[in-house]
Amino acid sequence: MRPDSLENLHDGARLYAFCDPCGRSVTLDVPDLIERLGGGFPVTALRGRLTCKECGRRGIFRRSGGGASTY
Ligand SMILES: [Zn+2]
Repeated sequence: MRPDSLENLHDGARLYAFCDPCGRSVTLDVPDLIERLGGGFPVTALRGRLTCKECGRRGIFRRSGGGASTY
């Protein structure tokens, strides 16, 4: 599996964050993430960066589009 960076996702790929405990899901704004974290930021590292705004649970993350990979 190649290490995807945020800028590699820019074309059509979408990132989603899910929270099992409260059922919340959000679509992440990739251009905004690139602005905040940089285009070279590895997608896999997002996992530890995201927290649910409802319950504060950490590590909820999934991507879709641009491939079938799921982290
Ligand atoms: Zn939650």
